[in-house]
Amino acid sequence: MKTLSVIVPCYNEEEIILQTYSRIKNAIQIPQISGTIIFINDGSTDGSLSILKDICAIDSNVKLISFSRNFGHQPAVTAGINSCTSDLAIIIDADLQDPPELIPLLIEKLEKEQANSVYCVRKARVGESWFKLFSAKLFYRFLNNMSEVKFPLDTGDFRLIDRKIISEFNGLKEKGKYIRGLISWLGFKQVPFYYERDARVAGVTKYPLKKMFSFASTALLYFSKKPLMLAISLGFFAMLLGLILAIWFIFGKIYGYTNAETGWTSIVIIIIFFGGVQLLTIGVLGQYIGILFEEVKERPEYIVGEKCNFK
Ligand code: UDP
Ligand code: MG
Repeated sequence: MKTLSVIVPCYNEEEIILQTYSRIKNAIQIPQISGTIIFINDGSTDGSLSILKDICAIDSNVKLISFSRNFGHQPAVTAGINSCTSDLAIIIDADLQDPPELIPLLIEKLEKEQANSVYCVRKARVGESWFKLFSAKLFYRFLNNMSEVKFPLDTGDFRLIDRKIISEFNGLKEKGKYIRGLISWLGFKQVPFYYERDARVAGVTKYPLKKMFSFASTALLYFSKKPLMLAISLGFFAMLLGLILAIWFIFGKIYGYTNAETGWTSIVIIIIFFGGVQLLTIGVLGQYIGILFEEVKERPEYIVGEKCNFK
């Protein structure tokens, strides 16, 4: 008999929680598996918390961690992984975009391939805006180019992980977590499972542009030092341009093909251009300093307000 925890982050999902609960509950009736569901209430401001508490009251196989406020999707999943004591864990969204019915297939694949993790790769995504599809496609490819670690493309957090991965993940000390990247960075045997992602069952996305941007910048800054090389490359480019211009003007003076007095426009353009280059590179440095600042404060990633059904 193996134990399984299904980790479900929820932020204002009152319309779907009951449906999510019953579909996951049905999906984890698997022979030789004893399943638990861990809901993480990420500071919902709607009725999610009371629905989750009602579920906990009638089903002792459902656990609840409720945050003191909204900390975000990645901290919520982290809290789930930190608190699970099972042999296996599934990370799944509450909106049923990732079908819970795939869970038995993931476990079967893990066992058949003797793998430590089965990550789900989206073959198709139904009901997403063209902007989300396009930006996600572009971002994952860009990140793979920038990062020192190579990640599987078109893969979210929906995956099955075993105890080895759970323990190693729990040992990671960084606060800014890009979970799918970190799990892939851990190594071990990780195999893909291709599936079609459904549309959200109800409600709207809880990832507005601002959150998407902060998620993408955590991924980039924590997994790549390449943006720091930008200053060096731009510096070389500026030096080369300066050298070429210097040679051009010296020869121009000698052979009389330039008239330096009419250079007002070029001077203004050069000043503005390199002012921009300098600000940009200072900005990049600032982003990394910002991360150091966040990390050295050593604040916890999340604060738990209350828990249900944890022994
Ligand atoms: N979520 C969360 N905290 C947040 C935002 C989202 O716990 O601050 C949860 C949300 O309830 C859902 C999952 O993270 O279970 C993924 O969010 P969503 O489906 O809105 O993102 P999308 O699929 O649109 O990228
Ligand atoms: Mg979703």
